[in-house]
Amino acid sequence: SVTLENISKRYGEVEVLRGIDLHIPAGQTVALIGPSGSGKSTLLRLLMTLERPDAGRVLIDGEPMWTQPRGGREAPATEAHLRKVRGKIGMVFQHFNLFPHMTALDNVAEAPRHVLGLGRAEAEARAAEYLGKVGLGDKLGQYPGNLSGGQKQRVGIARALAMRPEIMLFDEVTSALDPELVGGVLEILRELSASRTMTMIIVTHQMKFAERSSDRTLFFEAGRILEDGPSPEVFNAPSHARTRQFLDAVI
Ligand code: ATP
Ligand code: MG
Repeated sequence: SVTLENISKRYGEVEVLRGIDLHIPAGQTVALIGPSGSGKSTLLRLLMTLERPDAGRVLIDGEPMWTQPRGGREAPATEAHLRKVRGKIGMVFQHFNLFPHMTALDNVAEAPRHVLGLGRAEAEARAAEYLGKVGLGDKLGQYPGNLSGGQKQRVGIARALAMRPEIMLFDEVTSALDPELVGGVLEILRELSASRTMTMIIVTHQMKFAERSSDRTLFFEAGRILEDGPSPEVFNAPSHARTRQFLDAVI
């Protein structure tokens, strides 16, 4: 599970997140929508431990991410603790950042080998398994330069899955793709969501996809959660006029 308690984050003068409270139970898929600059990516980066909140707490499975009680006082998280938390979370970005000099198989096997310490054969077997799951079982030996954008993004998804995270974060993973490649990638996300094996947070501008594939939708505006509800309700009968205005503008 993911819990945010009164999370605030500012960059200089700009208050990017303003007191976010949120609990996502294990297995739920949440779509995060909202205007550009509203803080969606910042929220994911906080969960990925790439950013630290100025105030408030992040808890993963009930355990604080950044502070641990010690002798009744709060102390900074140790590296070991952060590593443990990070190991539960995977992220896929808009730009897939594959290693160009490595095959699809090696790209996916890299972290299981060097972060988890699996042997070569075991890491490669695992990589082949996840590349198969994203429909690339016949591309194991291909280099990124020979793959389409959609295939590269599916390698990126396999790479995150191969670490077997409990929580997966997706930040506009289709926005760099040619339109006809978007559907295949979204279909993989839909299948992952339906399997309910992970908690998923998906930042997307694909409203139809968000509506159909998530349990719950959060509408972000200026660093706050303006609307939070079951996806069918948020899309069909939002409680705020601002949400309606946003949905009418983007569809
Ligand atoms: P988009 O839909 O365009 O991706 P977003 O909702 O993901 O937008 P964020 O990337 O979270 O928005 O950015 C929120 C605000 O924080 C923006 O005003 C942005 O300029 C600012 N911001 C983000 N990262 C930094 C940074 N490292 N330094 C300074 N300002 C930042
Ligand atoms: Mg963003």
